[in-house]
Formats: sequence, C-alpha cells, structure tokens
Amino acid sequence: MRDFSWSNRTITARLLTAGFAVLLSVGLSVAADAPTAPGGITALLCGHLIDTIAGKVLGESTIVIESGHVREVLNGLQAPAGATAIDLKSQTCMPGLIDAHTHLTGQTSRTEYVDRYHWNVADNAIRSTVYARRTLLAGFTTVRNLGDGDNESAALRNAINAGIVPGPRIFTAGKAIGTTGGHADPMNGLNQELSRDLGAVDGIINGTDDAMKAVREHYKLGDDLIKIMPSGGVLDEGASGENSQMTLEEIRAIVSTAHDYGFAVAAHAHGAEAIRRAVIGGVDSIEHGTFMDAEDMKLMVEHGTYYVPTIIAGDFVARQAKIPGYYPPTIARKAQEIGPLIQATAGRAYKAHVKIAFGTDAAVYPHGQNAHEFELMVGAGMPPMFCIQAATVSAAALLRQKDLGSVTPGKIADVVAVPGNPIDDISLMKQVTFVMKDGVVYKLNSVPVDTAL
Ligand SMILES: [Zn+2]
Repeated sequence: MRDFSWSNRTITARLLTAGFAVLLSVGLSVAADAPTAPGGITALLCGHLIDTIAGKVLGESTIVIESGHVREVLNGLQAPAGATAIDLKSQTCMPGLIDAHTHLTGQTSRTEYVDRYHWNVADNAIRSTVYARRTLLAGFTTVRNLGDGDNESAALRNAINAGIVPGPRIFTAGKAIGTTGGHADPMNGLNQELSRDLGAVDGIINGTDDAMKAVREHYKLGDDLIKIMPSGGVLDEGASGENSQMTLEEIRAIVSTAHDYGFAVAAHAHGAEAIRRAVIGGVDSIEHGTFMDAEDMKLMVEHGTYYVPTIIAGDFVARQAKIPGYYPPTIARKAQEIGPLIQATAGRAYKAHVKIAFGTDAAVYPHGQNAHEFELMVGAGMPPMFCIQAATVSAAALLRQKDLGSVTPGKIADVVAVPGNPIDDISLMKQVTFVMKDGVVYKLNSVPVDTAL
C-alpha cells in the first residue's frame, strides 16, 4: 500500500474556514503533483462512528490521523493539542467505502455501441479521470476494476497513485479473460470483415495453455487480479446471457496460474452451471450470479466464495431496455430477461449465508451513483449494517487489504461521513458530505476540495 513517509519532502498545512479547506504550502517546496497528507495531526470530530468490525454505531468519537493513517480513535470529542480539527459533529463517520465491481474507463450511453467504431483508448482514458473523481466524491475510496478495453485502467490507477488526478485507490483486472464469441470477446456481433480471431494476449482463450498465457500476460502488464467470463452476459451481442462459456479445466488452469502469481480471480457468471464450475474451479468471487441456485449457494458457503450482486446494474439495464434504441435488440432482450432477477437472488443468497461484498458494475449505470446499491440491498432483505459492512470490512477481505475496511489504529485513513444515521435511513449513503482518502480531504461540507491537488 502507499506509504506516506515519502511525502515529508513537502510540509503542508490546512486552514479550515467557513466550509472550505484551503491548502497552504509552508516551507521551500510546494507539492508538484501528489496530494499529501497534512504534515501535522488531523482530528475528525464525529457525531457518530460506525465500528464496521463490531457492527455497531458508536456515539461521539474522535478519529486522530497522522501521516495518512489512523493514529487512534477516542471516545467523545477531544482533539489533541495542536491537531487540526474537522467538525463532523452532525455526521456519522465510517471507513471509506469499497466498490468491488467497477469499470472506471467506460460508461453507458445511447451511442456506446457506435462510439467503439470511432474512439481510441485515449478517449476512454481521458473520460475515466472524470468518472474516477465522481466515484471518489461519492465516498468510494477504493474500487476493484473488473475489466477494461486495453489495460487503460492500470494507467488510471498509476495516475491516481501518483497524485496526477483524484480518484479511488484502484485494484485492476485489466482486460477480462473469456472465450471466442463469449462475453469478453469485443468482436461479438461485428461485421465479419471487421471481426478478427483474438488470442490469449487479447484475453480470449481456448484451452488450458491459452488460459495460463492470458494470466501471465496480466502479470506482465502489471494488473492486480484476474477477471474471467465463464458465462454469457447481458451487454455483448451474443445470444445467451447465461450459457456456460468456459470448461472446468479452463477455469482451473486460470485459477491455479493466477494463484501462483498472487492474483485473486473474480468470475462474472449469470448461469447456475457456470457459477458451479467457477466455484468448484476455485474462484474468489462470483459477480452478478443471477441464476444462482440452492446448490450453488451451498457450494459457495463451503468454499468461502464471495458473492458480489451488482443489483443496481440489473435494475438499470432492465429500465433502459424499455427505451427504444438504447441498446441493440439482442442486448435489450437479455437486459429485460436477466436484469430484474438479481435483487431476489441477492436476498436468497443473504438468507443462505453466502458471503457478500458490495459491488455495482459502475459504467453499466452512470458513475457516482454507486450508493444506490445500498438501497437495493436493503430492499432485498439485508440489514443496513450488513450492507455497510459489505462495502467496508467484507469488501476489504475480498480484496485481501488488511489496512482497509475499518477505522482502526494503524489502518489507512480513509474516512467518509453522511448527515445522520444510515442505519435508520440507508438512503443517506447517497449524501456523502465528507471524503478523506490516505489522510487527504477531497470533500468537506459536501463541497469538493480540489485544492488537495
Ligand atoms: Zn462488470
């Protein structure tokens, strides 16, 4: 993870006035690019604090932050002497939110299926900086990016880490891995003269040798995890949204190679058989999981496989599919078949004690609206605290990030706040007023703080 000790080269202080944070540089050097955690100590005076490990809402609490990390958490409102205090007394503080399923380098639009004939990777990359900022300002300080076009999400990740653009901490899968004609094949539905036969370096595999090569290609490109497409999906022009598109042997080859390189594997899967193969094949999470049956759920509990429902994506595509011409006809049909079913599946998985991590498939719906997923999860029958834990401790466990997911001494200082108690009203998660990532304030009193850059 990022280590802020290097930032000592720049001494910064923050002057907090009338709802605006003004960054002053003190001393000889000014931060050239990277936003730096305040050189001193910051105290967040919170009306309430959500203890995501215990699943409790605590009363008045002070979070003391130093060098981008939580130094201590105190009962009551008591800023240490010399600390810069931030008044969040009317707010409920919680750890920075984690969205375990995003695509930050694209976004749905009526022209999406035409734009791909005109756009280059740079078009996606430039837009992605705007989407990343929106995501961060919505309170999501960390994301898993599960698929892009040309590994441009790794470039976005690197630019955010270097402080060039504001955005969430990204763990990216680069391009998704699928099979010829499957959900990851970008040539689906194209005129045959435009279509080409893609191979392992493009993320398209047929057989176990290709599977191993595709994973190794991701290691070469500097990605963080692997995303696979063992079933059909909604937003490509293939006929089925749920058929099985990988053999168990191909899945096993990917998973074992991925684990050799320290990669977790996320599996997009709608169909029950594809889910079964992915779980038996050893993947770490099932994404969407629409037609997950009782046997799949039992297997997931046994294997400890996470479920990332992405209800908001199903909900959005089902509604958009009713707008004539928004999607190509095959996609509109699949969106109406599959989209409306995910919420009920998520409710059944919760009751079956499947491990659930928060994820939304952002890009399928407009970036920045991620928190609507909380309302849909509660609508599926999950308690509000469970949903907040899904977006903090549970997602951090899925991402294997022990320094994220709770406001605990020693952890990374990612903190967000909402006005009131989200356990009483989950829709408050859509009204994030305060965002701190790595000890740097990006939003205060609902106002973006771009002086962090
Ligand atoms: Zn996705």
